[in-house]
Amino acid sequence: MGWALIGASNVARQWIIDAIRAQDDSSIVTVLSSSEERGAKFAAETGIPAHTTDIDTILADDRVNAVYISTANEFHCDQTLAAAKARKNVLCEKPLALTIPDARKMIAACRAAGVVLGINHHLRCNAMHQKLRQLLAEGTIGNLNAVRVFHANFLPQILQGWRINDAKGGGLILDSTIHDIDTLRFLMGDDPTHVMAMTQSGRLAHDGVEDGIMVIMRFPGDVLVQIHGSYTVPFSEGGVEFYGSEGVLIGRDCMSQRAVGRLFVRNADGEKEIPVHHHNLYHYALAAFSNAVRGAGQPAATGEDGLAALTIALAIREAARTGRQIKVEIP
Ligand code: NDP
Repeated sequence: MGWALIGASNVARQWIIDAIRAQDDSSIVTVLSSSEERGAKFAAETGIPAHTTDIDTILADDRVNAVYISTANEFHCDQTLAAAKARKNVLCEKPLALTIPDARKMIAACRAAGVVLGINHHLRCNAMHQKLRQLLAEGTIGNLNAVRVFHANFLPQILQGWRINDAKGGGLILDSTIHDIDTLRFLMGDDPTHVMAMTQSGRLAHDGVEDGIMVIMRFPGDVLVQIHGSYTVPFSEGGVEFYGSEGVLIGRDCMSQRAVGRLFVRNADGEKEIPVHHHNLYHYALAAFSNAVRGAGQPAATGEDGLAALTIALAIREAARTGRQIKVEIP
C-alpha cells in the first residue's frame, strides 16, 4: 500500500510512520504540510521521499491508495472529503470531526466512494483492554454495577499548543476524554444514555478551554460510569476499574500509547493478576486498517465508532457548559 501523510504531525512522527513501515508491502510516498519548510524538514528527518503543500498533488498520485490524516482537528473533515472524492482510503485521527453533521458527511462520502474509513482510537488496540473486554463479555465479574476510568496526566511541553489554546478544536474533551469514551464503548459494547460533567480551566489551558474534567454517565442496565481526565496532574497512573456483582476487574497503567497495562481480578478467592501478551497498539491498528483495505475485516475503529464517540464527547461538553444532564442520541 502506498501511503500519504496528511499533516506533518507529532503523532505521525512518534507512532504512525513506524506502524506503517511495520506492515507488509506498505510504504510512505509523501507528506503534506501547510509549510514548505516544515514539510521538507519532516520528510528529511523521517526518510519520506517527497513532501508537498498541495493536497491535490497527493490525491492525483496513483501510487497513493491510503491517506493518514493527522492535521489539527478542524481540518479532518475537508481533507477526508477530498480524499474520498479521489478514492483514497482514509485513516483519520480523532476526533473524526468537530460537528456531527461533518462526521456524517465523512462517513457517507467514504461509503459512496467505496473506500475504507478508519479512525485512530488506539486504546482499543491495547491487548490489556482486549483481554478485559473478553472477561467482561464472559461474565467474569457477574452483573456490572459501576465503572471508574482514571486518565489524568501532565501534558508534555511539546503538546502544549492547540490543545490548550484553541477554543474550537482544542480542549481535553475532544483530545483525551474522547479516547476514554471509545474505550468504554469497546469494553462495554454499549453507549451511554445520559451524561453529566464538570470541567476545570486555567491551570494550563486558556480562554475557557478545559484542562480537567469529571464525567458521570449512565449506561444501559443502570450502570454508572465515572471518568477523571486531566492535562494538569503529574505523577498519576491511568487505569480502569469495573465493579460487578461477583468481583472487580482492575486495569492499571493502561491509558497509554505504549504497549503496557496490568490486569487484575479480585473476588471471593482474593486478588490475582491475569497475564496479558502485549503488542504495539499502532502496529495493530495499521494491520487492521490494511487488512480492511484488502477486503478482510474492518478497521479497529470504524467511521461509525468515530461518530458515536464524537456524539458522546459533544454531549459531555454540552453537559459541562450548561450544568445539565444531557441525553445521548447516537445518530
Ligand atoms: P501536532 O501539533 O504535532 O500536528 C498538528 C498540525 O500542526 C500538523 O499537521 C502541522 O501542520 C501543525 N504543526 C506541527 N508543528 C508545527 C509548528 N512548529 N508550527 C506550526 N504548525 C505546526 O499535533 P498532534 O500530532 O499532537 O495531533 C495531530 C492529530 O492527531 C490531532 O487530531 C490529534 O487529536 C491526534 N492525535 C491522536 C493520537 C492517538 O494516539 N490517536 C495521539 C496524538 C494526537 P502541517 O501539517 O501543516 O505541517
